[in-house]
Order: sequence, then C-alpha cells, then structure tokens
Amino acid sequence: MATHEKVDVAIVGAGASGSVYAAVLAKAGKKVVLLESGPDWQLTDLISSDFWGRRIKPASGPFLLEGKNPFGYVYQAGWGVGGAALHYFANFPRLLPNDFKIKSEHGRALDWPISYDDVAPYYDRVAGDIGVSGDAKAEEIWRPAGKPYPMPPMKTFRHGEIWLKGFEAVGIRMVPAAVGMNSAEFKGRRACIYDGWCHVGCPIGALANPVVTYLADARKAGAEVRPRATVTRVLTNPQGTKITGIEYYDEKKERQVQEASVVVLAAWSAQNPRLLLNSATDRHPKGLANSSGLVGKYMMAHFSSGTWAMFDEDIQNHMGTTGAQFMSYDRYGKTSHPGTFGSSFITAGSAMKTSDLGGFANARVDLFGPDLHAFMQRAARGLTRIGAFGEELPNIENRIELVSDKDEFGMPLAKIVHSYDQDAIALWNANFEEGLKIAKAAGAKESWSGRGNMPTIHLMGGTIMGTAADNSVVNSYGQSHELPNLYVAGPGIFATAGASNPTYTIFALSLRGAEHLAEKWSTVAG
Ligand SMILES: Cc1cc2nc3c(=O)[nH]c(=O)nc-3n(C[C@H](O)[C@H](O)[C@H](O)COP(=O)(O)OP(=O)(O)OC[C@H]3O[C@@H](n4cnc5c(N)ncnc54)[C@H](O)[C@@H]3O)c2cc1C
Ligand code: SF4
Repeated sequence: MATHEKVDVAIVGAGASGSVYAAVLAKAGKKVVLLESGPDWQLTDLISSDFWGRRIKPASGPFLLEGKNPFGYVYQAGWGVGGAALHYFANFPRLLPNDFKIKSEHGRALDWPISYDDVAPYYDRVAGDIGVSGDAKAEEIWRPAGKPYPMPPMKTFRHGEIWLKGFEAVGIRMVPAAVGMNSAEFKGRRACIYDGWCHVGCPIGALANPVVTYLADARKAGAEVRPRATVTRVLTNPQGTKITGIEYYDEKKERQVQEASVVVLAAWSAQNPRLLLNSATDRHPKGLANSSGLVGKYMMAHFSSGTWAMFDEDIQNHMGTTGAQFMSYDRYGKTSHPGTFGSSFITAGSAMKTSDLGGFANARVDLFGPDLHAFMQRAARGLTRIGAFGEELPNIENRIELVSDKDEFGMPLAKIVHSYDQDAIALWNANFEEGLKIAKAAGAKESWSGRGNMPTIHLMGGTIMGTAADNSVVNSYGQSHELPNLYVAGPGIFATAGASNPTYTIFALSLRGAEHLAEKWSTVAG
C-alpha cells in the first residue's frame, strides 16, 4: 500500500459536479486531486458512431436493481473523466421556484432549505462559464428574470418545427430550448455542426462537457486528475470527528491512501451513498453522515412520456442535436394535469439516429421482418418524437443499501430499490394522452405512445439536503451536517426532483457549494 502526500482537497469522481469543485478550489490556490475510476478521456477519444460510443459508457454498475421499476443506466451513468456529462444531451432547463417549496405549498414531499433565488445567480454564472444557448427573455414567462444567455438559440429543423401547430392547438407555449451547446463559437470552442452525435460525445468541443469546460480550467489551475483510481472508503480520525482522506485502488488493483483536509464525494447519486455506507467505523456504525439513517434514502428519478409521429414529408430528422429544439414549462405546475401530482417538462425536436439511444429502429418494438423494414424506410424521412419528463416525489422506501456480494476490490455491492407510486403513474399516463392530442393537431399521419417499461431517467437523491442532521444528510452547500470537512455534490443532494433535466442545477449547486467551501476554508479544513 502507498500513502501519497497530503492534499487540500480529494474529489471522488471527475464528472459534472466534481469538475466544478476542482476548478473553483484549484483557482483558489488549493492543492486538488480528482480520483476517477475510469479512463482519462480526451476529445480525440470521442468518435461519432453508436458502436464506438459504447467504449465510453458503463455497461452496468456495482448495483443490484430491485423494486417494481428498477433503475436503468443509459440516461444517467458515466465512466471516466467527464462522467455522464461527457456524452449527455445537454438540455439545460432550470428548476422553477415551485420546486423548492412543495411541502409548504401543497403539504406533499419535502421543502428545500433554499429557494430559487438562492440558486438563480449561479445558473447565470454557469451559463457564462461554460456556454449556454437559448432565449432567456422568452423563458421568463415562467420564471423570474435573470441574465441573457451568452449565445442565441440553436438552429431549428423541420422535425421540431412541425410540432408547433399541435402544441399551439392544445394551449402549450413552446420557446427555444436552453442547451449547453454552442450556437456560435464560444471561448475558442467551435460552433455546433448539427450532426446529432452528442450522445456519444462531441469530438469538436461544441457540447459543454466537463473536459472542455470546468475540468480544463481546473487542470490549468494545477489540479491533478488521477484516472483508474477507484475509491472504496472515506477515512476518519480515531475519534470519528474529522475526515482524513480516502482509500482507493489503482489500475494495478493495489490499495492506496490519499490523505486530504477536505473530501468531496462527486461520484454520482448511486455511488456516493454506497461509499458513505461502506465507510462505517465504530464511531459511525451506520456509515458516515448517517446518524439520521437517511443516507441512501429518497432516491428519485424522472420518467418520460414519448410520443412518436410519422409525417408524409422529409422532415430532416437526421439533422440537429440530441438536445431539444423547443421546450415548455406550461405543464410545470404541480397540479397541471387533473387527478395527478407533479411537474412535467416538455421538449421537442431531437435528431434521430438509426439505432442505440432513442434511435428509430426501436420506435416500433412490435414489428419484425418485412414490416419493420417498411417502417424504417418511412421512419428515416418522416419520423419524429416529443417528450414530457415527469416528476417523481421523494419516497423513503426508494433506497440504496449495501449487500453481502462484493466487487473486484472487495467492496460490497449495493442494491437500488425503486418503485413509482400512483401519482407518478397517473402523470406518466396524462402526458401520453396529451402527447397524442398534440400529434393529431400537428397533422401527423400516424402517432403512437412510446410505452414500454416505465423509464427511470436521471437518478437523484440518496444524500438529500435539509436544515439539520435529523432530516437530511447535507446542508444546502452539500456539506455534511455531521462531518464538516466532508462534502457531497451532484443530483444526490436534491431534496425533490422537479421535472427539469438536472445537470444545469448540478453545475449551479456545485458552484455555490465550492465557493462556500473556498470562502470558509479555514473553519472547514482547520
Ligand atoms: C445519454 C445521457 C443523456 C443525458 N442527457 C442529459 C441532459 O440532456 N440534461 C441533463 O441535465 N442531464 C443529462 N444527463 C445526465 C447527466 O449527465 C448527469 O445528471 C450528470 O452527469 C451527473 O453528474 P455527477 O457529477 O453526479 O455524475 P457524473 O457526471 O456521472 O460523474 C461521476 C463520476 O464519478 C466516477 N466514479 C464513480 N464511482 C467512483 C469511485 N468509486 N471512485 C472514483 N470515481 C468514481 C464516474 O466514473 C464518473 O466519471 C444525461 C446522461 C446521459 C448518460
Ligand atoms: S450536434 Fe453539435 S453538440 Fe452534438 S455532437 Fe454534433 S457538433 Fe457536437
């Protein structure tokens, strides 16, 4: 076993949240090391192909998947530098003010310990840091005013525009989607060429992935990225009052210790609780930061109701990005659909490839042989899709627990138990019904709901934020209530899920948490 020279900050995971902490703290002059279990991907490793794209993604994780609606990995997990955000779709909606106070306003779910106004300035700053394209003014029909986005909206294409008539007919206002992509050259990064390969990583750097944004800044400021380093435990002093560092296994599967004044867990919503639970000691028998028993609890996901539509013209569905062209919060009110509860966030107009994620070969799973062939011939020109993301409320039964089976490093696997409740199912159905009405009003020749197993997109929760140690794991900065030199970052700290894709909020909360840590350094790291 080797012990490395002590650093100021050890960050576990070099994805979306970890890269922000690394940039802020390295720029503040701290000695920062990021421990990343996967490879050190470069832009040159990104190849615009569904087959090659699989190299940069995890096939599964060290988790057993249980419950009525087991978690899936494809829309949320990453592996290697950049994390899932290396190959995300970069839809960048914000949460809205109504997300932060559901308990106060409806007597359901949980309140966040902060409000929209606490996060809003960080949304604006993230946009300026990494580049967001969109029309802030247009969005302000649903939210308080903020700064304009640094780039104008992306180009639109017929497969997105063709839906607008249908949305208008049912009273849904669509505005240009906010996306973490370059509609123009931005800080030396090229403008998007609309070839629709974002889901396997953007080789020209037009997609705001961590490698070309916060992580690049962190490296420039001296942060070290240590790839192929899998963290297995967070270490504490004998009294159990302070974090002292982390244990990890290197590429040769040799055990190493990295001492640090502060540890930031940024290894995604599923791994962070697993690490905290596996770091139990005599002083912390239930795991670190877990006297409340809430580590691993309140896991949440988004579901999506996709509506497919076939049109009788060439709508250029190969063009564009895998992000959306248009978006709407018109169904974001928690009681927008009668008889259901929760927000919906609507998107339209993502480019379509043949196979893999969202590809048109999977749009009619009931077809085989000549029927499938005929369908694909039409779909290649005329098929398009809209989607409505739905909100799942936090439920303590949706949880992560360690199990006795072990991984290759001897660390216990975990199980993720997840089932949707009746509210979620009702909302999922309501969005399908409305989707078909929109397709009909848009003049689609055929339309159908993309049903199947109810999807689980964007894993959140497990280390939720709150006001105190008896109702949450961390405070609004991601700092553990119990061990002040331990931080948790990422969607795991969300108290509720909203219906907006999470990463813009992940970046904003991470910026807020990292700057708070830099400001309070001497008291936290002391
Ligand atoms: C196909 C796809 C499309 C998506 N589209 C969108 C979208 O349009 N909009 C949106 O908002 N979000 C989207 N997401 C989700 C988004 O990418 C994630 O929400 C975000 O990246 C999560 O950030 P994170 O920092 O928590 O985790 P990640 O960015 O995944 O980073 C976690 C890192 O930790 C590393 N790690 C894990 N365990 C360990 C360990 N034990 N030791 C060391 N390192 C470890 C992982 O390898 C990974 O690199 C998408 C994701 C995918 C996969
Ligand atoms: S569509 Fe744009 S952002 Fe997506 S991979 Fe192509 S150039 Fe990059």
